Amino acid sequence: MTTDTASAPNFIRNQIREEIATGQAAKIVTRFPPEPNGFLHVGHAKSICLNFGLAEQFGGDCHLRFDDTNPAKEEQAYIDAIKEDVSWLGFRWAGEVRFASDYFEQLYAWARHLIREGKAYVDDLSPEAIRDYRGTLTEPGRPSPYRERDSEENLDLLERMRVGEFAEGEKVLRAKIDMASPNINLRDPILYRIRHANHHQTGDAWKIYPSYDFTHGQSDAIEGVTHSICTLEFEDHRPLYEWFLDNLPVPVKPRQIEFARLNLNYTLTSKRKLKLLVDEGIVDGWDDPRMPTISGMRRRGYTPGSIRKFCDMIGVTRADGGLVDIAMLYHAIRADLEDNAPRAMCVLKPLKVVLTNVPCDHEEIYEVPGHPAREDMGMRQVPFTRELWIDRDDFMEEPPKKFFRLAPGKEVRLRNSYVIRCDEVTKNADGEVEALHCSVDFDTLGKNPEGRKVKGVIHWVSATHAIPMEVRLYDNLFQVEQPDRDKDADFLEHLNPDSLRVCQAMGEPSLADVAPESRFQFERVGYFCADRHSCGDGKRVFNRTVGLKDTWAKIQKKG
Ligand code: ATP
Ligand code: MG
Repeated sequence: MTTDTASAPNFIRNQIREEIATGQAAKIVTRFPPEPNGFLHVGHAKSICLNFGLAEQFGGDCHLRFDDTNPAKEEQAYIDAIKEDVSWLGFRWAGEVRFASDYFEQLYAWARHLIREGKAYVDDLSPEAIRDYRGTLTEPGRPSPYRERDSEENLDLLERMRVGEFAEGEKVLRAKIDMASPNINLRDPILYRIRHANHHQTGDAWKIYPSYDFTHGQSDAIEGVTHSICTLEFEDHRPLYEWFLDNLPVPVKPRQIEFARLNLNYTLTSKRKLKLLVDEGIVDGWDDPRMPTISGMRRRGYTPGSIRKFCDMIGVTRADGGLVDIAMLYHAIRADLEDNAPRAMCVLKPLKVVLTNVPCDHEEIYEVPGHPAREDMGMRQVPFTRELWIDRDDFMEEPPKKFFRLAPGKEVRLRNSYVIRCDEVTKNADGEVEALHCSVDFDTLGKNPEGRKVKGVIHWVSATHAIPMEVRLYDNLFQVEQPDRDKDADFLEHLNPDSLRVCQAMGEPSLADVAPESRFQFERVGYFCADRHSCGDGKRVFNRTVGLKDTWAKIQKKG
């Protein structure tokens, strides 16, 4: 595991370093607080790397805490997936996994505390009326007629809400703060709603559930979190976060710090929208390799190190609204696989080549390095026989001038092998090219033919030994950079119809028995990963992680 991700400076890191230097902070505690209502995506990876990275760097703790206050949308399956994703990224949470629902009793006691202090009340207004009374950005709100209920009545009503005496929406508990505050979050925010729902952790124990705002800061305080790091949309909630800490007998006062969320072009980073893609069957589940989920990226072939590297490259700032180029993400994984993925030859669109001057029973075995620069990856054996597969794209019947691959009467080098010449093209009844009859120049193994220029080198596979396999080629799921930019439009209109293409490919024998999640560079083609779910037991599916062309490195060079 690379830990260089923990070293890049950012404003939060600098601030903590300063606090430690001046003795304001000793041990730091952060937390990653997902709501278990979907799988984690690449945006969450940024938050994970930041929170766990700070704990790693400063010798502190990072907690994994599920913010599970909305049972209607949450599931155990999401909890399991989130834990697996965080572990796979290489991070370890301190202690047990925590749940905000572990603190429901304490939160309830604190709600009663606020009531007794005259700082909370049960409101009978309907949800619509509450919205109406709240006012707008330019107009102050109006007090609810129930605002001055006395504490005893409030305590009694809250208890009856808790045990299920009232219907959903009939009553809520609100903080009594300031209906005229310019910050709408302070206009008597809701603390508890009635929900007759079964909760994945607490079962049927509760008929009321605390709001996110009433839960989050207090959970941080209970856990001794020192730095509560969240995305910028919570900046306006910070006064409320602090109001609760100031008005409750909490053990410590964590500090909320906001940073800009990750927005990636051609990509959605909203669990709700990603869930729609899953529910509508547009993708093959949450871990479809086209999904920007951590599990989708894993299945696509990303390494944990490449995702951490990417999060390091994009940095952490308070500047909102930027769109990160997905080419940066591709660059991060390409750099990793360039160094670490063994090489193999695989023909995506097979076209038969018959070498007419090679005897039927002829066989040569080439010993070829597993990786050009990594001796530790050893050698692989590549057999050469009379019949081969090459890629259809490496042949043209009527080639343009600069086509340095195979064409009638032209020569090309077979990678790691001989120079061949195309003598004859055979076609089927529909006029499609069926096979190429070629001849080998036996004088060209490991050396260039004298006096002739052979520019092209193509990859190939022995037809006798070829391993049939399914190869899935992925492209961006959306055709436009910001599929959800227009809030009123349907982002599904921007789906890329060619985001998945499937090839029946032929691979070299070293690909016969690879373990799920093995990664390779298929020479001249790209980087591929053996599908987690469909490799082994006779199944052989490879996902293209990324192509070979690095557009990000090019942009960097120009700039
Ligand atoms: P979504 O909008 O996808 O549902 P969320 O913010 O509601 O995301 P949570 O489960 O509440 O999802 O998120 C857990 C943590 O991840 C929060 O601290 C949140 O700020 C952070 N986070 C979510 N999305 C991003 C993002 N795009 N970039 C950085 N951090 C993010
Ligand atoms: Mg959220």
